[in-house]
Amino acid sequence: MKRIKRIRKKYNKKNLAIVLSATILIIIIIGAIMYTIFGKSASSYTSTIDGVEMKSFTQEVEFTTEIDYSPTKIQLIVMHEDIDVSDKLTYKEIEIKELDTYVIAYTYKEYTFEYTMKVVDMMKPVIDAQEEYYIELNTTFDFSILNIHATDNYDGTTLDISYSGDVNTSTKGSYPITVSTKDSSGNKASIDIQIIVSNTTPELPAAVIHTVSNPDDINVCIDKTHLLPDGWAPNDLVSVGGNHYLRAQAADAYNNMMAQSVLDGLHIVLVSSYRTQAYQTTLYNNYFAIDPENAPFYSAIPRSSEHELGLAIDVSYDNYLYDDLDDHAVGKWMIANAYKYGWIMSYPEDKTEVTGYMYEAWHFRYVGVELATYLTQNKITLQEYYY
Ligand SMILES: [Zn+2]
Repeated sequence: MKRIKRIRKKYNKKNLAIVLSATILIIIIIGAIMYTIFGKSASSYTSTIDGVEMKSFTQEVEFTTEIDYSPTKIQLIVMHEDIDVSDKLTYKEIEIKELDTYVIAYTYKEYTFEYTMKVVDMMKPVIDAQEEYYIELNTTFDFSILNIHATDNYDGTTLDISYSGDVNTSTKGSYPITVSTKDSSGNKASIDIQIIVSNTTPELPAAVIHTVSNPDDINVCIDKTHLLPDGWAPNDLVSVGGNHYLRAQAADAYNNMMAQSVLDGLHIVLVSSYRTQAYQTTLYNNYFAIDPENAPFYSAIPRSSEHELGLAIDVSYDNYLYDDLDDHAVGKWMIANAYKYGWIMSYPEDKTEVTGYMYEAWHFRYVGVELATYLTQNKITLQEYYY
């Protein structure tokens, strides 16, 4: 009996030790599991966007190459142990080049907050057009002469344009046209314009209108009553830089003149040079749309612009034209030197009655050195010389 009791006692001691060790082990295991699951959040880390707690954040952003995704800009606030650590976040700068999804990881110690930015193009393309266009009665019309452009604000590409509506140039009137376009992301834009068919050019008796017979001559004189043959264009145009073209002989003279002006310390900007008849038509009609009464005084009607000859230039000291250019070094230099290279000022201040044009301090015409020297020294215009 005694022996049995002792054995049982011995057994109970051993059993208790096992139970105890197992319990400790279980506590350790559970503790480890609990730490793994809850340990990190237990150390109190929160990130908020605009005051709302977030684990990550996805947002659509309109495309620009300069998207600001700094924590301040996206209103990301990160708290760790009740301390604002937002200014301690690190993240890798990325380059935004195209429409795409970008992930920016903001890191503080072992914590990371992911901001997914879907860069999209939601903006309508831009159509660059006027509200009204004037078209000369009984002329051929094509929408391309309106020079309307549409650009995708995303990548600046020129977009295709469609026009709905008809224009009958043989009947005076106002024709409504809708101009539409669509960009690569499917954003659409459209605007309404009016095409006004009218007599845009001054109606002169047919008897006073002449068509010049020598349009190819370097010293040909065209003005309001002496027009170029319809559709005529020079056949020896050469580039003088950028989108600028002049007839070969005028281009040489222009280049020589510019080289000397540079040596003299000047920077002369070429604003305008050769224009096609179609472009001159658009230009004139656009002026006419703004100011029908005075347009012929400051813009040449088609077939009468010296720019259509490929023998005229408009110059400035920047990209704009100034009637007080003669107060500036560039204007003074041109007045003193242009004739030496064969250029004359076509529309001087004291000859507006003769030329029919306002004073254009910027407009010079190539006629060759000999004639330019003669006209400049005698202060006479090409019209006075010929007609
Ligand atoms: Zn000009």
